[in-house]
Amino acid sequence: MIVGITGGIGSGKTTACRLFQSLGIPIINADEVAHKLLEDLAIRTAIIHKFGSSVLRDDNTIDRSKVKDLIFNSPLNRVWLEELLHPAIKNAIGEEVRLSKSPYYLIEIPLLFETEMEKTVDRILTIDCPEPLQIERVIRRDNISQKLIESIIATQVTRKVRLANSHDIIDNTGDIEALRKLVIYQHNYYLDLAASGEH
Ligand code: ATP
Repeated sequence: MIVGITGGIGSGKTTACRLFQSLGIPIINADEVAHKLLEDLAIRTAIIHKFGSSVLRDDNTIDRSKVKDLIFNSPLNRVWLEELLHPAIKNAIGEEVRLSKSPYYLIEIPLLFETEMEKTVDRILTIDCPEPLQIERVIRRDNISQKLIESIIATQVTRKVRLANSHDIIDNTGDIEALRKLVIYQHNYYLDLAASGEH
């Protein structure tokens, strides 16, 4: 069973993943998988064919920031890239899953809804906290302005959309100890679900 873990900026995804990891659950980072795939010959060739060699760096690797610009400015380009990458990401994740044996796996996908990755996972787990708390924690962590954090939040799906489309939600309003207890509860639920094969 593959669980995609998501949430807004500073909601506590990384912290929750660390807690799941301490319970022995493997964490796969979807962004890292996607970055690695850009080196895959077929994917690389398709991207150059579509966008031209201007997306290449001097060392002939794909310049991710250039590709990001191209998809940011064109929904059609974004859909094209997603259709190219998502099956490959799913395969790569399947490969990682085959290599290790765990009752379930967590894939960290910060922009799961924004990049329409819902179909690459069996369940969606959202780490949630109210916006003012997200902002407060990110300011403390990164020392960046409230304005910048608000502008990042504005590019992400709303909390309402995220919550309405998740199978599972962990409320990260409390302290770390409270989060740890909720993660253990969720872990036991996933173990039961994986054993029953009903996910
Ligand atoms: P991003 O989207 O920016 O990658 P994230 O969702 O991975 O963020 P974290 O980095 O896990 O969020 O958490 C944001 C900050 O809030 C971190 O400094 C973390 O230590 C802190 N934090 C997370 N959960 C709690 C909590 N329950 N109590 C106090 N601090 C917390």
